[in-house]
Amino acid sequence: MRRAVCPGSFDPIHNGHLEVIARAASLFDEVIVAVSTNYAKKYRFTLEERIEMAKETLASLRGIVVEPVGEGLLAEYCRQRGVSAIVKGLRSSSDFDYELPMATMNRQLSGVETVFLPAEAHYLHLSSTLIKEVFTLGGNVAEYVPRSVLKRLVAGGPAPGQPSRG
Ligand code: ADP
Repeated sequence: MRRAVCPGSFDPIHNGHLEVIARAASLFDEVIVAVSTNYAKKYRFTLEERIEMAKETLASLRGIVVEPVGEGLLAEYCRQRGVSAIVKGLRSSSDFDYELPMATMNRQLSGVETVFLPAEAHYLHLSSTLIKEVFTLGGNVAEYVPRSVLKRLVAGGPAPGQPSRG
């Protein structure tokens, strides 16, 4: 059983994430979508909401588990859960520069490999932050997020402290 993990905050999950998770699922027997919380960060959605959105969106794909991951070392989580690979989508050379030292450290700490998948060209520019900014300023993000995420963005309105779209 080859198990991989796709870690992230998924605030919210978007089509760039989904594409990489689906490709990971075709390479491994099981993929854990590990939803992280960093208490120094401010999220638009709660951990429960971020997990629910990921579950709703990924329900039709086989071999995918969505679960929370604490603030501890990802290498230790991988060791405990029998994960052999961390899968990351790469959008740019700056993603690579950021990810390479972490990949090396994780391998040295626990032997877990990191597999980089090039982001799909159509989603290269996507990040959760950009999607939230565009939505808050009245832009149409329907092409970039799954339906359940769009519904929650609309229900929540512009993020607190942001200009009203009305
Ligand atoms: P974090 O909040 O942990 O920085 P995100 O939740 O935004 O990360 O994203 C989690 C992971 O999803 C990233 O580390 C990256 O591997 C992948 N990812 C993010 N955006 C894209 C994208 N547009 N295309 C492909 N992969 C992406």
